[in-house]
Amino acid sequence: MLMPTPAPPLRNAMSIDVEDYFQVSAFAPYIRREDWNGLECRVERNIDRILALLADRQVHATFFTLGWIAERYPQVVKAIVTGGHELASHGFGHERASDLSPAAFLDDIARAKQLLEDLGGVPVVGYRAPSFSIGKSNLWAFDVLRDAGYRYSSSVYPIAHDHYGMPDSPRFAYPVREGLIEIPVTTLRMGSRNLPSSGGGYFRLLPYALSRWMIRRVNEADGEPAVFYFHPWEIDPGQPRVAGIDAKTRFRHYVNIPRTHGRIARLLDDFRWGRMDEIFLGREAGSRSSAPLLSPA
Ligand SMILES: [Zn+2]
Repeated sequence: MLMPTPAPPLRNAMSIDVEDYFQVSAFAPYIRREDWNGLECRVERNIDRILALLADRQVHATFFTLGWIAERYPQVVKAIVTGGHELASHGFGHERASDLSPAAFLDDIARAKQLLEDLGGVPVVGYRAPSFSIGKSNLWAFDVLRDAGYRYSSSVYPIAHDHYGMPDSPRFAYPVREGLIEIPVTTLRMGSRNLPSSGGGYFRLLPYALSRWMIRRVNEADGEPAVFYFHPWEIDPGQPRVAGIDAKTRFRHYVNIPRTHGRIARLLDDFRWGRMDEIFLGREAGSRSSAPLLSPA
């Protein structure tokens, strides 16, 4: 009797939020936006290292790129596109969507999209809000994203967290408006809670084997691709230290940074990876989900 051929492992989505260490939202109380221009930039060399790491593994990823960075480092945008990666938008000025009016939000995301498309010479259809700042209070942001021509968002984190999160929202890609899907970064369901399993500070804090186990669980038990994210500054032990910050912010930002480049290399070896648009827009948007469209807030 023939044994059934095992299905090939799922392809997960690898994503990078292209911004520099001083633009992290948790540093906002300590670093004035007006001072960004005078700070040492590290993003270009860090993106070079990431591009080399991905090229070495023949992985294509999605780069949610900040307009502020693209304007100053157009060569970074070009290198991302030349490498075969998806160029996507992280907005222009890294303000939380929840801090902006609908008009100011439109301004920010439309400006970033135009700039990235001009520099990269490719359509930009994906958006990730700074600090996952789309939630219950600003679901109007989905209307604005659709109107600006985006096709997907990866901006709602279905966890409880002090800075962001909408813990009762769907864990996997779902339609939010006609022509727009939300692709949440990955969580693992444990009891009645969603645990973050997809990058950021948690990936640096937890042992690598636990992170790998959580992604495997999502692939095997949920049958869904994982969406992983990291930042260029997370692989940069040489970044300037921000002085005078509180202990929690310091711990969250700097924990295990010297280990992260190696851990991401292992992650690339341990799973199959691809671009967000290829994994989630390649199929009929929303066909995997029967969830109704979220009603406008
Ligand atoms: Zn960001």
